[in-house]
Amino acid sequence: MVIVKGIGLDSSSKIAFQSHAHTDHFVSGRLIIATKATKYLSHLRKGGFYKVYPFNKSFYIGDYKAKLLPAGHMLGSAQIYIEFDEFSLLYTGDVKWFKLRTAEKSCFRKADVLMIEATYGVPMFNFPTPREAEKKLIAFVEEALDREKTPTLYANQVGKAQELLKILDIHGYSVKASRQIVKFAKVYEKFWIKFNNISKDGEVTLRGVKTQKPENSLSPSELYVSGFGQLKLSNHADFWELMRIIEKVKPKKIYTLYGYAEEFARLLRGLGYNAESLRNDALPLNIYPFKG
Ligand SMILES: [Zn+2]
Repeated sequence: MVIVKGIGLDSSSKIAFQSHAHTDHFVSGRLIIATKATKYLSHLRKGGFYKVYPFNKSFYIGDYKAKLLPAGHMLGSAQIYIEFDEFSLLYTGDVKWFKLRTAEKSCFRKADVLMIEATYGVPMFNFPTPREAEKKLIAFVEEALDREKTPTLYANQVGKAQELLKILDIHGYSVKASRQIVKFAKVYEKFWIKFNNISKDGEVTLRGVKTQKPENSLSPSELYVSGFGQLKLSNHADFWELMRIIEKVKPKKIYTLYGYAEEFARLLRGLGYNAESLRNDALPLNIYPFKG
């Protein structure tokens, strides 16, 4: 749990910020700060009073000026920038440097303290760009269809599945998607994303998956799409994208969260940064006046 001066960051608190609509970032609170898309997507699975804000528009949380910035991880995913008296803070939530088809383009700004995810925070994670991964995906689909097999894709049913749906739409493929995936896609369509390719007898099958699919459990016409999967079309920053973000933010202090948080913080210290990892399961953390 990360609570800074009473404000929960993807952590439950009276006032809580929820960065995006993945269940591992769900929060409860008397007031939940989020984007409209995050509210709509979350409301399919949970209740809660959401106060929504557009990107890049200042608002106040008590005495503190704050702003949401696009995080690029999925539709509506946000970072929060807060100006405390003693320091400014940028909390990224899950974040992506490169632009995805169904997420707003991320942008970053200078901050004294940066709290950054580290899902893929070690150098062995070096993903293809989304456009390169897209080419591989289409080649896979074409190859399976040439063999008269139905290409079947497995992906997180919120966010990644809609990204795949849109890519396949752009390349002219109809998709038979699971009911849950379609349900979330309908919420996407309330915003700036439209799908023209959802069909009961689609050429490509798209299924949701929560856990990693081992490669040997898949047939040649099946593909698991994840940074940990066979096709590394990821909606998270890889190590190298994380480094680009840090260069933009120029923080005096870095806190790393999730995944490879400890390893990433150690690597950053080796590069001369003042970095520390935050364990997600730790007790509520309060960061008191930050000193140099
Ligand atoms: Zn996420």
